[in-house]
Amino acid sequence: MPQDADQTLAIIWFRQDLRLGDHAALHAAMAGGGRVLPVYVLDDDSPGRWAMGGAGRWWLHHSLMALQAALAERGAPLVLRRGKAADVLPALLAETGAACIHAGRMHEPWARGVEAALEAALPAGALRLHRTATLFDLSAIRTKTGGIYGIYTPFAKGLRLRGDPAPPVPAPGRIAAPPPPPSDRLDDWGLLPGAPDWAGGFRSTWQPGEIAAHRRLHAFAAKVVDGYDVTRNLPGQAGTSMVSPHLHFGELSPGQVWHAAAGASARRGEGLSVYLGELLWREFAAYLLWHNPHLPEQPLRPRFAEMQTRRAAAELHAWERGRTGVPIVDAGMRQLWRTGWMHNRVRMIVASYLTKHLLMPWQDGEAWFWDTLVDADLASNAASWQWVAGSGIDAQPFFRIFNPVSQGEKFDPDGAYVRAWIPELAGLPDRWIHAPWTAPADVLLAAKVRIGRDYPAPVVDLAEGRMRALGAFKAMGRGASEPIDAEGPAAEDAA
Ligand code: FAD
Repeated sequence: MPQDADQTLAIIWFRQDLRLGDHAALHAAMAGGGRVLPVYVLDDDSPGRWAMGGAGRWWLHHSLMALQAALAERGAPLVLRRGKAADVLPALLAETGAACIHAGRMHEPWARGVEAALEAALPAGALRLHRTATLFDLSAIRTKTGGIYGIYTPFAKGLRLRGDPAPPVPAPGRIAAPPPPPSDRLDDWGLLPGAPDWAGGFRSTWQPGEIAAHRRLHAFAAKVVDGYDVTRNLPGQAGTSMVSPHLHFGELSPGQVWHAAAGASARRGEGLSVYLGELLWREFAAYLLWHNPHLPEQPLRPRFAEMQTRRAAAELHAWERGRTGVPIVDAGMRQLWRTGWMHNRVRMIVASYLTKHLLMPWQDGEAWFWDTLVDADLASNAASWQWVAGSGIDAQPFFRIFNPVSQGEKFDPDGAYVRAWIPELAGLPDRWIHAPWTAPADVLLAAKVRIGRDYPAPVVDLAEGRMRALGAFKAMGRGASEPIDAEGPAAEDAA
């Protein structure tokens, strides 16, 4: 603690927890009844290649605006600073004379590095970290024998045995604050797109900020949660909660989401149970990253590093822009480009198509998602890509290759999703909507679809792509399915 520090003044450093409700760090900062200085630091240096992508920056701009307004209403203006957090915060502490910094703990490896650097740079005890982003303390989750979970099911079972997470704490009313030190102007940070403005679809889909986040959460909880076990697989319906960006930026705490869903569920049946299970998948991804800092770059099954993948720029570009010629894949990729979000079922289909039919490295898909998703989250994105690619520990079997046509027919049977994102195929009958290249000439003519002109021909023959992927897996040999070595979270026992 600095000797001449003002013991009545604490900094609250907002990170991926841009809210006032259920905020353990804010709560702790206010606990002594002293004054609180709210700060956000835009740190593009510390994350290295994982600096926030374009879609995330759009969200951040609006989320900070909402947080500024909510804080100002309570009498505590938000101070904005830019630079390495490990430099900016000690300087701010000295500048303001504050005694300590309260903040939420993050699980990203680069962010943990920042926390360690700050611990070293600040007076002892001046950095106080709290749990704001996860339901449970990740470092304390262990199997019965003290090991680390490597598989989702026992992990989730173990957490469910603990009962519901603690109920959320309400947002504070007035916040006593000091006269604010100089702040950057949000508009000067250039977080929004210049020309061309690609964010039109974002604006019509989303409203960032804590208030809007609660609106979306409660609308879902009241109407959909009981049927979620069925609706969550149908991309043509509004059957999921769409709270992922609100959760990523921490406008909602996972505890608030958990309790809102549980409290609104009339039946407390399968729908609720599956939904809470999804929140635990989020928790599991964070836990995997916590114990495997290389998760975003390296396969958890080391032999996957030797897999013969391909790099084909034109095909990657076709995938990114939704021009592969496979409707469900293209619809998903266009939804992503236009709105910064994609339905989970379709994320699995497009990821399988990229890593298997096109045989590209999962890291290429992960990078594109990182830049284009408003919910881009280092843990969930990396864990999900590895899950689909088969290189994760708790992955779907590597040889399981989604057939995008039958996936489309099963989960978008009336083609509503495809038609919404690929209007040029809208006139095709349901029977052909997921495989237009197989439609008879007269059907295509009537629907005004010329394959290769109005809509692309498939960039890869699906049967050939599948065989090529199976060949690559076979060449990798038994290493593909061998257990992870003792370093990884294989020390797994059932809870
Ligand atoms: P709902 O179905 O309503 O679920 C509620 C919440 O549970 C979600 O908001 C999310 O926080 C969590 N959740 C649901 N499914 C998963 C999952 N499989 N893994 C982890 N958490 C989950 N999610 C992200 O938040 N950020 C990402 O960067 C991300 N990248 C992904 C990449 C791939 C290849 C795949 C297959 C999935 C990815 N997901 C990611 C997981 C999932 O697709 C999204 O969380 C979900 O689609 C968000 O929509 P929702 O809020 O309507 O989810």
